[in-house]
Amino acid sequence: MSDDLADKKFETQAVHLGRVEGDETGSVATGIFPSSTYRVDYPGDESGYVYSRWSNPTRQALETALATLESGRHGYAFASGLAAQNAVMNLLRPGDHVVSVDDLYGGTHRQFEHLMRNFGVTFSYVDGEDAGSFEKAANDRTRLFWIESPTNPLMKLVDIAAAAEIATRRDILTVVDNTFATPFIQKPLDLGADVVLHSASKYLGGHCDVVAGALVVNDDGLAEKIRFNQYAVGGTLSPFDSWLVLRGLKTLPLRMERHSYNSMKLVEYLETVPMVDRIFYPGQDGKPVPNKMKLPGGMLSFTIKADFETVRRFVMSTSVFILAESLGGVESLINHPASMTHASIPEDIRRARGIGDNLVRLSVGIEHIDDLLIDLRTAFDKIRTAVSREK
Ligand SMILES: *Cc1c(COP(=O)(O)O)cnc(C)c1O
Repeated sequence: MSDDLADKKFETQAVHLGRVEGDETGSVATGIFPSSTYRVDYPGDESGYVYSRWSNPTRQALETALATLESGRHGYAFASGLAAQNAVMNLLRPGDHVVSVDDLYGGTHRQFEHLMRNFGVTFSYVDGEDAGSFEKAANDRTRLFWIESPTNPLMKLVDIAAAAEIATRRDILTVVDNTFATPFIQKPLDLGADVVLHSASKYLGGHCDVVAGALVVNDDGLAEKIRFNQYAVGGTLSPFDSWLVLRGLKTLPLRMERHSYNSMKLVEYLETVPMVDRIFYPGQDGKPVPNKMKLPGGMLSFTIKADFETVRRFVMSTSVFILAESLGGVESLINHPASMTHASIPEDIRRARGIGDNLVRLSVGIEHIDDLLIDLRTAFDKIRTAVSREK
């Protein structure tokens, strides 16, 4: 980062970070450097760019920007959030153990259970709302605490600082998937975490037009290992996709403010709907909000007092909310976790974790709040009439 940005506010950094170092064209926008290979001055010269899997100017501009925004020293961009996760998993050895929150992204659970278990890594799942549960589940072989906060899809909040304190005492690394909150809302490294992970496909990119992942760390030794894994496995982010994420970052603060405003208004509305049973939203039920989350963000879930088929009809009854997986874009999305994002979790485990058939998850976009309210009201009306017609 250029020194004149170091003391600037997040919003200013988000706009001005991401210039390619050494680019003297005067270009205001970041340049896209597609070259896979770079001319060197002598055989074995590794002082500059060499080969794009190792380093690329556009990707490096993004990596530097992400590190700064997350209060870290080293950033790494990957071809997806799960590729970033794999670079962390490759730090482990057979026999190692991971304590993870039980309410987490379906693909994360899949990589743990269907890939890493084959290499002899074991996992325990705990209720992240109780920070002490990490300590209880830890043993001598525990190497990682894996945290999502807010969790997906039940929006539980983990006391990251408390978990990281336990981890540090026991020489365990704390990894925080900060996809839902983004660094504008919370900065896990400042709370004591060792690794921050992002699916940049979500809020960082922000427009549902790129699949990307990232890791940010502070420790130099850990950074070197992750950089090795990134290079040796090869799941790096392309120059064009790096540029898309950089472009998204510029409006991240503006978007998070609007996502949060809209979601708060929708929660106020949902609280008045008799068909709504429970609402899952950061700070809901009068629970305290740890980690100094600056805003609630744009994600919320709720249960409807209706059967499987009726809930499926509900998620097919909106028109502004698009029925789709994923989240974090400017457009509002509606999702039925049991048959979409969390369908890969075995049914009994899914139900035991509270992800029932009547759960609906919203990724609240940045449209006008009135249109979002009307859209949900219309969808509730449709299932209400459908339910009464059947009777
Ligand atoms: C989407 C998501 C991931 C996986 O990221 P991809 O970019 O889809 O590989 C991981 N964690 C969370 C919380 C996510 O929402």
